[in-house]
Amino acid sequence: MIVDIRVLRRDFPTLAQIVNGHPLVYLDNAATTQKPQPVLDALNHYYRDTNANVHRASHALSGQATRAFEQAREKVARFIHAPSPKEIIWTRGTTEAINLVAFSVGRHFLKQGDEILVSTSEHHANIVPWQQVAAATGAVLKVIPLTDGTELDMAAAERLITPRTRLLAVGHVSNALGQVNPVAELIAMARAVGAITLIDGAQAVGHFPVDVQALGCDFYTFSGHKMFAPTGIGVLYGKSEWLEKMPPWQSGGEMIKNVTFEHTTFAEPPFKFEAGTPNIAGAIALGAAVDYLQGLDRIALLKHEQALLAQLLDGLAAMDDIRVIGRPQAGAVSFVMNEVHPQDLATLLDMQGIAVRTGHHCAMPLMQALGLKNGTVRASFSFYNTHDDVAALLAGIDKARELL
Ligand code: PMP
Repeated sequence: MIVDIRVLRRDFPTLAQIVNGHPLVYLDNAATTQKPQPVLDALNHYYRDTNANVHRASHALSGQATRAFEQAREKVARFIHAPSPKEIIWTRGTTEAINLVAFSVGRHFLKQGDEILVSTSEHHANIVPWQQVAAATGAVLKVIPLTDGTELDMAAAERLITPRTRLLAVGHVSNALGQVNPVAELIAMARAVGAITLIDGAQAVGHFPVDVQALGCDFYTFSGHKMFAPTGIGVLYGKSEWLEKMPPWQSGGEMIKNVTFEHTTFAEPPFKFEAGTPNIAGAIALGAAVDYLQGLDRIALLKHEQALLAQLLDGLAAMDDIRVIGRPQAGAVSFVMNEVHPQDLATLLDMQGIAVRTGHHCAMPLMQALGLKNGTVRASFSFYNTHDDVAALLAGIDKARELL
């Protein structure tokens, strides 16, 4: 492999620490990733050297801040192959991006009897906003079930996608199971009946290249903090034809063209959807995260992650008391240990410096469908994880078993 992971890890200061007397083994990347030095530097540089508000470039610093902020938008557009930076809206994260579409599209373009289709494996962020739309408009929320295993039931999806389907909202990669959903197929099926499509890419963009034009979706959402950038910044990609006709969801400064007490005209997209002073430092640092990722051999990193996944799955398969849930393909592996409560296992791992997550992973309906009352233990990777990290987790589980 061309990339030396041990060298790459030096870019991530957080990783080089001792936790509970052990070197940190950070396997909670699906919750949030660590930040490389260039991202930390970008944050620091903005606040230390160019701090000024954007889009009011009547002085030098404001001009610099505005340029950096808009360049970050261009970087993000290129990163997901959006046709134009005007189709990139800054949000606080995936949750806010989905809420924006739920408000500006859902509440304004959906009506009684229209159907909204999600899948069983969605994160709450891609369920609850649509429930709210349904409650407000009389639209009906429908759910693509799972097959007997844990895959989305595509035959059922085909039956559920009808001319009544007005909007399809599905996750690209399940945060709870690490399964990659057949989104291109679902988008094609939804478009064939004229439905609007939104893909929740929170767990995808940090793991593999995404091309929104190849996917053909109307909207794509993700969070900066899950792809090596700070919290509080995220992205909504939306096709221009939608952004032009959607009403703003928040209003105030920055999103207007002209205001009188009688009437306000709105700015063009994307600014129409960015009321108030934005997270300038966060956007610039997200641009730095994109630069950082683009500077790496992403295919090599993906192969490395796949090798870690195979190593973990092999190791877990050799343990009689462990059951892996689903068919993990990217990022996350969920498992349960016989009668052991996931939280007990995680606590014993934490004592060994191993960070994993437990519970329902913000996917309660999925856990109910799988009959997992207490949820799972989830180990989630990033490219900076090593084979030693996986070995430490496997050894950590053995040790925990002795203590239980
Ligand atoms: N969707 C998925 C698939 C996620 O994994 C997450 C974060 N766990 C979200 C949505 C919500 O992202 P955020 O909390 O950053 O808004």
